[in-house]
Amino acid sequence: MKREKSEQLFIEAEKYIPGGVNSPVRAFKSVEMAPVFIDHGKGAKIYDVDGNEYTDYICSWGPLILGHASPVYFDGIQEALQKGTSFGAPTAIEVEVAKLITEAYPSMELVRMVSSGTEATMSALRVARGFTGRNKIIKFEGCYHGHADGLLVKSGSGTLTFGVPTSSGVTPGTAQDTLVATYNDLDSVKALFNENPGEIAAVIVEPVAGNMGVVPPDLDFMKGLREITKAAGTVLIFDEVITGFRLAYGGAQEVLEITPDMTTLGKIIGGGMPVGAYGGRRDIMETVAPLGGVYQAGTLSGNPIAMKMGLNTLTYLRDHPEVYQEMEEKAKLLEAGFKANIEKTGVKAQMVRFKGMTCCFFTDVPIDGYAAVMTADTKAYTKYFKSMLDAGNLMPPAQFEGIFLSAAHTKADIEKTIADHYQALKELVK
Ligand SMILES: *Cc1c(COP(=O)(O)O)cnc(C)c1O
Repeated sequence: MKREKSEQLFIEAEKYIPGGVNSPVRAFKSVEMAPVFIDHGKGAKIYDVDGNEYTDYICSWGPLILGHASPVYFDGIQEALQKGTSFGAPTAIEVEVAKLITEAYPSMELVRMVSSGTEATMSALRVARGFTGRNKIIKFEGCYHGHADGLLVKSGSGTLTFGVPTSSGVTPGTAQDTLVATYNDLDSVKALFNENPGEIAAVIVEPVAGNMGVVPPDLDFMKGLREITKAAGTVLIFDEVITGFRLAYGGAQEVLEITPDMTTLGKIIGGGMPVGAYGGRRDIMETVAPLGGVYQAGTLSGNPIAMKMGLNTLTYLRDHPEVYQEMEEKAKLLEAGFKANIEKTGVKAQMVRFKGMTCCFFTDVPIDGYAAVMTADTKAYTKYFKSMLDAGNLMPPAQFEGIFLSAAHTKADIEKTIADHYQALKELVK
């Protein structure tokens, strides 16, 4: 497969943009090649500037649950554009979106719209601190919550891939208020609470970890988090930026039947536009300005075009609950196919699935948390990635990222990918 135009564009891009990209994992650095520059997408397919077609398993890293360029996203967008793209004043559609979100997530009694997942988590933590009057927070190693300073401590996703678990440029003062526990290990959380009595404002967690590959939660661990935080007067924040409207319409909290105090959303709720949201219990959210003393604002927050795309997406998902069943069926098909290939070829790999979220790790260690994830063979992943790409499958360009499916992926797409996966694994053992 030729990718000359992509390679040319990357050389040009590197002259003007750090690393040639506007977000690190896009650089394909960990898979040791120039990134694929995209021309357009349609449904489950994505097309690069050289005219190559791929089945897309990134789906913009989560937002595109209905696939690329679905007409659902665009319903009424022309009319909305004609009316104007930003007003800096409230509009009716913001109320509609807030109503839809609070109906889907009863734990979010009040919700504030922002422009990214990063802004959502950053703001939620400020609110939790303002509400409790405490400084410290607990996060989990390998969980990613966007790139706010205090959250770039032992975070996942690109930071794992690039080996900078804690970013430079984060001051020791900021980092010291971020305590780090081990995902799926309740004792590690209890120890931090014992060492810092009355000081912990919030525990923030991905209820299904999706930024160190996919690591399903241990249910007792999640229930334990709820109990410990409740007893300590600590705000439990579910970062559902990936899982919200993906695992189920009501997110991980619906699936796990655990009610957090606050929730952060992003990705899917913007229908492909830059949107995030945070919300939670009324008494907590009433500390946000203009009601209370926690300041948080945004010039483009609740932007009418982004809200329209989001509303279209969420309304469709609400009215088509079968999307979730079908996505889980497709994930099961992928899981079974990949598992069979692993067995047939004898490659050391693990296929993980939780509902519609899946990930193929190149390790023989069962995936139950961060330590297991870190045993993965990233060199094997690199080879695998390239074989898959040349066969027409755009997998995430790093081992520590999950596979994203959409409503647009067909059984036939997945069956072809399974066949390509078999060939890619065979190449590995050659
Ligand atoms: C993507 C992500 C974020 C950050 O969202 P951005 O829109 O990239 O700022 C936060 N938390 C989780 C769990 C994410 O997956």
